[in-house]
Amino acid sequence: MTDAVPPALRARLDDPFAVLAGPLAGTRRLGFEVVAAEQISPSIRQITLTAAELAGFEYAPGQDVMLLVAAEGDRPVRRRYTIRSLDRAALRLTLHVVLHGDGPGERWVRAAHPGDRIEGIGPRGKITTSPSADWHVFIGDESAMPAILAMTESLPGDAEATLVIEIPDPSDEQELLAPARTRMSWLHRLGARAGDPVLLAAEAAAVELPPGDGRAYVFGEAKVVLALRKILTDRGMREDQIAAKAYWGRGRANAGHGEPARDA
Ligand SMILES: Cc1cc2nc3c(=O)[nH]c(=O)nc-3n(C[C@H](O)[C@H](O)[C@H](O)COP(=O)(O)OP(=O)(O)OC[C@H]3O[C@@H](n4cnc5c(N)ncnc54)[C@H](O)[C@@H]3O)c2cc1C
Repeated sequence: MTDAVPPALRARLDDPFAVLAGPLAGTRRLGFEVVAAEQISPSIRQITLTAAELAGFEYAPGQDVMLLVAAEGDRPVRRRYTIRSLDRAALRLTLHVVLHGDGPGERWVRAAHPGDRIEGIGPRGKITTSPSADWHVFIGDESAMPAILAMTESLPGDAEATLVIEIPDPSDEQELLAPARTRMSWLHRLGARAGDPVLLAAEAAAVELPPGDGRAYVFGEAKVVLALRKILTDRGMREDQIAAKAYWGRGRANAGHGEPARDA
């Protein structure tokens, strides 16, 4: 049983999130313990966590938890992962984490064993599905797959959704259990480097944008997200129809608060 950051060190941290106020009002601190860690496809590790504070925990599909994965000196290092699912009765929360190479988040995820402890803060994130939209288009890479699948699964049966997901390899595809009418496009990188806009940009330029007031949700590498947003606005979507979020920056570690550094 290992603590991601031992309690004595945590007490000494210069922690900007010591008090859950401002943008963190409405979140709670979660004393997670790892229940299971398993490889569900070549690139994705599933981590199941439990915490007493999950009793009464509410979140919207697409929201995430921020984990205190390490400390650098007295500075906390946090990483954000989308809530793939929550079993409210069993108090179990599931994450799907990409194994991309190296980083403090990845190191913790690779080493996590049942009984290990880690602090979380959640729910975080403002982007959820728009209930009034006439249609939904989701575009992202494998780091966005948990958000895209969780959001799609929450849509009602008469919703129209198109999903475009770039993944390393066909064996990373996942089953979608959605009541909504969905069209799914898996784009396989097949050895190419993550964070290149080519595949997703071609699909964003071609994907059907039906008439009516639709929504596009775009998540993944920072510069790819910018490029995709531009393609969609050039195709006539209004800014308020596009919910975009940079999850990571190519060649650069995320900042201690878990998002790509602003000048990345
Ligand atoms: C709101 C939000 C929700 C997120 N949800 C998820 C989720 O559900 N699952 C998930 O896996 N990720 C998710 N992410 C992305 C994840 O937090 C980042 O990938 C993060 O950088 C991982 O931290 P790390 O310590 O492993 O790597 P870092 O220390 O941040 O980066 C180290 C190196 O790895 C590279 N790198 C980082 N991420 C990737 C990647 N995905 N692919 C290729 N190279 C990468 C960086 O460019 C850098 O060179 C989310 C991010 C945000 C902001």
